[in-house]
Amino acid sequence: MSVIKGIKGVKDLLPEETPRWRLIEEAARRWAGRYGFHEIRIPIFEVTTLFARSIGASTDIVEKEMYTFQDRDGTSLTLRPEGTAGTVRAYIEHNRTAIPVPQKYFYFGPMFRHERPQAGRLRQFHQFGVESLGMADAQADVEVMALLWRILSDLDLPGLTLEINNLGYTADRDTYRPQLVSYLKQYESGLCANCRHRIEFNPLRVLDCKVPECRAITERAPRLSDSLSEAARSYFTRVLSGLDVVKIPYSLNHRLVRGLDYYNLTTFEVTATNLGAQNAVGAGGRYDGLVETLGGPSTPAVGFALGLERMSLLLPESAVRKAPEYVTIYVAGFGGHGAVVGFTALEELRLGGFQAVSDFRSVTLKAHLRQADRLKCRFTLIIGDEEVAKGSAVLRDMETKAQYDVSLSTVNLQIHSLLPGS
Ligand code: ATP
Ligand code: MG
Repeated sequence: MSVIKGIKGVKDLLPEETPRWRLIEEAARRWAGRYGFHEIRIPIFEVTTLFARSIGASTDIVEKEMYTFQDRDGTSLTLRPEGTAGTVRAYIEHNRTAIPVPQKYFYFGPMFRHERPQAGRLRQFHQFGVESLGMADAQADVEVMALLWRILSDLDLPGLTLEINNLGYTADRDTYRPQLVSYLKQYESGLCANCRHRIEFNPLRVLDCKVPECRAITERAPRLSDSLSEAARSYFTRVLSGLDVVKIPYSLNHRLVRGLDYYNLTTFEVTATNLGAQNAVGAGGRYDGLVETLGGPSTPAVGFALGLERMSLLLPESAVRKAPEYVTIYVAGFGGHGAVVGFTALEELRLGGFQAVSDFRSVTLKAHLRQADRLKCRFTLIIGDEEVAKGSAVLRDMETKAQYDVSLSTVNLQIHSLLPGS
């Protein structure tokens, strides 16, 4: 029979890798809690219109990356490519605007985009994201960037830079866009096919194209910063001084536009020096218009999303080794009676709070001890027919090789007394 394989760009996370992920998730959760964010769990699929309307019809995501399919009644549904649209949909649908305190949410979960699979770019990937809804103050921007930075610093991820830019208000970009378009048109033939298309549909995105020819052309392009209104400038000044106050380092990047249409004012991205071409670890910004675009009341908002795969690639081995190791007890039950009593003892150990394992294929003590070593167990509880007859067992310390006779009824206490710190 032919073997069925997983889908290209959709990865399995095997048990060797999940501890890294747990470490990352625990850090994100811990810091999100400290900053007053609460977990929200939103569906993995939504009606297609939600994403088309929020992310923007002429973005890469909506134009060519969504997994869209028809439900049996003909409704168009889409696997979520990101988490903000769903969070905002839920916020509006459950009338969370009526709650008189700022609504600060975080989420974890898989996202789906039909991109060319490569290192750091998958078709099912995972994000941790936060959305801070209701506050139009620069301090809210600083708060989410500080949270982002604390999580990454806590995990010791190396070579990171927080890049930040000011996208201004819609009116500022409306002033700027024609200037940029007329500049780009002069050099149209030198741009990549994608950017030639963007001139008409999403010209600002040309600025953060990674193709060297496009970068060379946009180097001398008119800058959005020269078209910004006084209000947009002073907002950004407050954001930057807030970052200084909480000592979050940043660098200004006037090219940073981001792939989603709903951003305004502050936009930011964290890049890593050793991730190769896909160097963005996470990104976000302010999106004051989105709630209204999705039919809710005017609500300022700011948020970010981190890519867990890229964080896992960056996570140093030393951080993983820092994670606490559990004491595991192997139960070696063998012989007609020993196997039965051993199985009971195994269950008792677990009920007593220990991590306890056995390999039921092993029928001799030698085979059991070999498995206990392979499984890196700290102790082995040996129970053969002989031990059963005496009503006892042998507890073997797998590191020191010392062995102790223990009464089956007091095994738990005995193990506790052998552990450091007891
Ligand atoms: P990129 O510039 O890498 O395409 P993006 O602007 O599409 O990123 P966002 O939508 O802002 O990314 O997503 C935030 C983070 O999610 C990214 O910084 C990245 O870490 C991660 N991410 C995005 N797309 C993918 C993907 N296809 N595979 C793995 N991680 C991804
Ligand atoms: Mg992308």
